[in-house]
Order: sequence, then structure tokens, then C-alpha cells
Amino acid sequence: MIRRDELYAGKAKSVFSTDDPDLLVLHFRNDTSAFDGEKVEQLDRKGMVNNKFNGFIMQKLSEAGIPTHFEKLIADESALVKKLEMFPIECVVRNVATGSIVRRLGVQDGMELNPPTFEFFLKNDALHDPMINDYHIITFGWASAEEIAEMKALTFKVNEVLKQMFDAAGLILVDYKLEFGKFHGQIHLGDEFSPDGCRLWDKETRQKLDKDRFRQGLGGVVEAYEEVAHRLGVDLS
Ligand code: 5GP
Repeated sequence: MIRRDELYAGKAKSVFSTDDPDLLVLHFRNDTSAFDGEKVEQLDRKGMVNNKFNGFIMQKLSEAGIPTHFEKLIADESALVKKLEMFPIECVVRNVATGSIVRRLGVQDGMELNPPTFEFFLKNDALHDPMINDYHIITFGWASAEEIAEMKALTFKVNEVLKQMFDAAGLILVDYKLEFGKFHGQIHLGDEFSPDGCRLWDKETRQKLDKDRFRQGLGGVVEAYEEVAHRLGVDLS
């Protein structure tokens, strides 16, 4: 597959066209950003680790019957994916309260959420990704009621699959963000799943092994991602 023009450069990934109009190349860069792009650093190996981590997770989700954009890894830092028409929405599921929900609602940090809770955010850096609800999504035409229902169902199905998988690796899947799009009319999981877009804590020590290490300046960011990959059996060679 020939990588052609750069279509878009996001905060951590670049997207390239290919000679097939239905397929794109995702290039995972070492750039690491937080606070809507206000803090940016280059972290060695991060592009490679996230690309391979994401490939591993997408494979597992696909085996569980969740349609994803992922086709295959094509290089250490690149993957071939389906070209989706993305919804401008972020879907967040939380199994444990931390981060923005604690700031917004004043609930106890670290509190287990049973049942897990779900939130929608608008993908808009300039507005700092504000929280939105189903009515906003329908009124402003970002997705239909049926599409909303499907995104919620798929996001919770991902939770069933991944919560167990991380638990078996001695990790708590605290929360995560997913984005969806349509491919030939069918909703697929798009974007990536990596420690950049979820929170993972060690089950025993509650040590943070995700992007909060970068956000909070704790250091050892890529080492933590590699530790998670190692525990899951992701091949980083
Ligand atoms: P919070 O709302 O607590 O900041 O984030 C909830 C979860 O969604 C966390 O796992 C966080 O990493 C992820 N998340 C929310 N917004 C973004 C975003 O814009 N980019 C990335 N990479 N992750 C996000």
C-alpha cells in the first residue's frame, strides 16, 4: 500500500491517503500533548509503543465482534485503517471516578462506579471539549438517536472486553475515551486505544500507568506504557 499525501496532522498522529480511497495510513508520532495541546513533548519510542499497543487492542476488540477501523500494522509507527466519516464526539466510560468528573461533580477521587457511567464530549480543542448530552447531539445534527444508541452500546461492549483483559494483567481500567465514525454506512470504532486515551492503574499499588504520568509530570511515561504492553503480552519487538 503506497502512502501518499498527508491529509491531517493531529496532536499525536498524522493521517495519510493511500492509493485506495477507502484506506488511510495512521502514523503514530512521538509527540505527546496534554491540556488541549498546551503542553507538548517528544517522548522516545512512544509512537512505536502506541501503534503496536493499539494494533493489539483493535485485534482483541475485533475478535469480540466490535467493528473497528483497524486493518493491519504496516511499520513500527504506522497502521493501515479504513477511512471513516467521523462523528465530532468523544464517548467516555468511567469505572472509577477520577479526572474531570471529580472536578465537575465533587465526588470522591478513586470511588468505584457501579454501574459504570457514560459521558459525551464535543471534540473541539478551542472550546476545551465541553460535555454534551444526547439532545445537543440530535439538535445540532452531530449524530442521530440510533447512532447515539449504537455508540453507547459499543462503548460499553468495549468495557466488558477490556476491563476483564486488563484485570487479568493486574490492571484497573479506570476510564477511557472512544471515537466512532461510519464506513459504508456502518458504525466503526475509529482513532486509537492506547494509554494516551485511557487511565490504567496497577491493581495492588494503584500506581498510574497512563497519560496522567505526563499530565501530572510524574515521569516514566513511555516506561509505564511499555510495562502495560508487557503485562498484556503485546509484541513490541
Ligand atoms: P477526563 O474527562 O477525566 O479528563 O478524561 C476521561 C478519559 O478520557 C481519560 O482516560 C482521558 O485520557 C480520556 N480523554 C478525554 N479527552 C481526551 C482527549 O481529548 N484526548 C485523549 N487522548 N484522551 C482523552
